Amino acid sequence: MTVALNLSRWLLVWLVVFAAGMASGQAAGSTQTPIVNDVSRLNPVKVREVYEVHDIEEIRSVLARAQREHLKVSIAGKRHSQGQQTAYQGGLVIDMTHFSKVLHLDRHTNTITVQSGATWKEIQDYANPYGLAVQVQQASNIFTLGGSLSVNAHGRDPRYGTTIHTVRGFRLMRADGSIVQVSRTENPELFSLAIGGYGLFGVILDVDLDLTTNDVYEKQHVSMDYKEYPAFFEKHVKGNHEIGLEYAWPSIRETDFLRHLAVYEFVKTSKHPAHIYKLHEESGISRNRAAFRPFQAFGSGEISTLVLAGNHGGHAVHPLHFAQQRHASTHRVPGLRLGKGYGYLAGVFCADQ
Ligand SMILES: Cc1cc2nc3c(=O)[nH]c(=O)nc-3n(C[C@H](O)[C@H](O)[C@H](O)COP(=O)(O)OP(=O)(O)OC[C@H]3O[C@@H](n4cnc5c(N)ncnc54)[C@H](O)[C@@H]3O)c2cc1C
Repeated sequence: MTVALNLSRWLLVWLVVFAAGMASGQAAGSTQTPIVNDVSRLNPVKVREVYEVHDIEEIRSVLARAQREHLKVSIAGKRHSQGQQTAYQGGLVIDMTHFSKVLHLDRHTNTITVQSGATWKEIQDYANPYGLAVQVQQASNIFTLGGSLSVNAHGRDPRYGTTIHTVRGFRLMRADGSIVQVSRTENPELFSLAIGGYGLFGVILDVDLDLTTNDVYEKQHVSMDYKEYPAFFEKHVKGNHEIGLEYAWPSIRETDFLRHLAVYEFVKTSKHPAHIYKLHEESGISRNRAAFRPFQAFGSGEISTLVLAGNHGGHAVHPLHFAQQRHASTHRVPGLRLGKGYGYLAGVFCADQ
């Protein structure tokens, strides 16, 4: 009896939900999530609806609804771009993260065609068995291809510029649902507008990207006063094709705050340690977090970001594989007092979950 009653209640609830969905003309793939936020969780925006899209027709149908109902549309990748500009109050959000298939890899031209919701990690995982790697990506591999192109992200490889330099072309869906082919020769104006365009010129659908071959690099480290760095870069790094990754971290010690630099570079080597091409996730995240909990609990005053310069064995496959180690050794340490020997500043990263 109780079971029958529960079942009929469940059926009733289900029918009401189904009827409500039908009445609102809700398109497949939409979720009733009125508040969206970026990854900082500081910028809630009340939107009309979020659509998780899986194919081109679903994207087109969201745009058609927006046209019909005069709604604004915003496009979301992994939502790491912070600030309320990435969602529009009362608008529709297209969540691209499920539009993420690798469509083609051409081993003759070393190019890959990927849907824009794929992350760098997904692209790298696909390309690695072919001995290939992404040429330019951010310091981390958690971002989507579309979100990265829309801000024209930079990486740490001094030989290449921003991501635009690695793009051969892409397909762009305009507001009316039409699709245009964009490259340096086809609709070239849109090439430079949509890359770095924050989604204002249409939805980037799939992208033809240049890949590079996997090489082995050796990690080297030098330190210097920041004033010496421009001359060092000119003489030693610029135009040096043997260096595949270069970054300099200013000190956050009291004694030489922001003056002293730890400079890391990855230099091509002919050494091939065993299993060097195997990709793996970063380890020791919990250990590192546990190590810093006391600072969070007992620290006072200042806020800074500390980077544990982990020992990565001195070797890496293509530098971007280094970034494959997700959240590579970065920890926000609220309340940490600046003190002697704490390390080097590497940038401000979002808070731990
Ligand atoms: C920890 C951290 C490290 C970072 N490191 C770097 C770095 O080394 N170098 C660097 O340059 N930047 C860096 N950034 C910034 C980062 O590159 C951008 O925030 C990037 O946009 C994040 O990608 P996403 O997938 O989260 O995009 P989202 O934040 O989701 O979107 C960014 C913009 O792109 C638009 N968009 C997303 N997908 C599409 C699409 N398919 N078509 C059209 N428009 C689209 C969105 O509407 C939005 O305007 C870093 C950010 C963080 C949080």
